[in-house]
Amino acid sequence: QLASREFQAETRTIKIGDLTIGGNTKNTILIGGPCSVESLDQIQESARLIKSQGLTTLRGGCYKPRTSPYSFQGLGLEGLKLLAQMREEHGLKVITEVRDATHVDEVIEHSDIIQIGAKAMYDQGILRACAKINKPVLLKRGFGTTLQEFVQAAEFILSGGNHQVILCERGIRTFETKTRFTLDLCGVAYLQEHTNLPIILDPSHALGYRYGIEKLAKACVAMGIDGLLIEAHPDPSVAKSDAAQQLTHEQFIELKSAISPVAASV
Ligand code: PEP
Ligand code: MN
Repeated sequence: QLASREFQAETRTIKIGDLTIGGNTKNTILIGGPCSVESLDQIQESARLIKSQGLTTLRGGCYKPRTSPYSFQGLGLEGLKLLAQMREEHGLKVITEVRDATHVDEVIEHSDIIQIGAKAMYDQGILRACAKINKPVLLKRGFGTTLQEFVQAAEFILSGGNHQVILCERGIRTFETKTRFTLDLCGVAYLQEHTNLPIILDPSHALGYRYGIEKLAKACVAMGIDGLLIEAHPDPSVAKSDAAQQLTHEQFIELKSAISPVAASV
């Protein structure tokens, strides 16, 4: 299988312009930004934060996979255009998620890394569309997905011709209800041992609360992972999605300096 260490011993290297993910670089890329793109002002502030921290990649969802149809669903194409504007104005790379196959082409066109969300990772229309492109794909693990199913979903993209797949652990559902999900670091150790794909961890969605994100980020980096995905919002109290887990910009800056000593480079 293409994702296995038997097929290729070395971790794959993914290059986006001057940015390298995985391989032997031992880089830990820190991707930050809000859960959802909400307005020009909001995403401008987020882009300025990322730029001011010397980082390269801004996240922000435009098609949000909400559990209720009455919650904010994202700005859609208007949000993608705001991200494209941030890419132009600040020279940043952008990552945004695809929720279903109807807008997969739009997302592919407007982003530098395509995020396939935890709830979307079984959608074969999305997997097959992402197999045909020449852009990196961040594939999130579903919260009820076994490691085997997760790697098999990645194989759909790899075997279809796109070799630029990044795995993302974002927490799985266990019996525990005090935290939103459970970050599966054992699963990460398994994926590091058996697969050749770069791994990015998302402690924000796993814990679901701001308070422990910095400590979790340090634990993740100590495992020698390839990157972190962290949600931060200029004013989390008014965030339209995932308000409880998004860091303030001050907390994001603190997190970055807290992981710097454990990371080879951030
Ligand atoms: C997100 O990144 O905002 C998101 C919805 O993530 P997940 O698909 O992991 O729930
Ligand atoms: Mn979110």
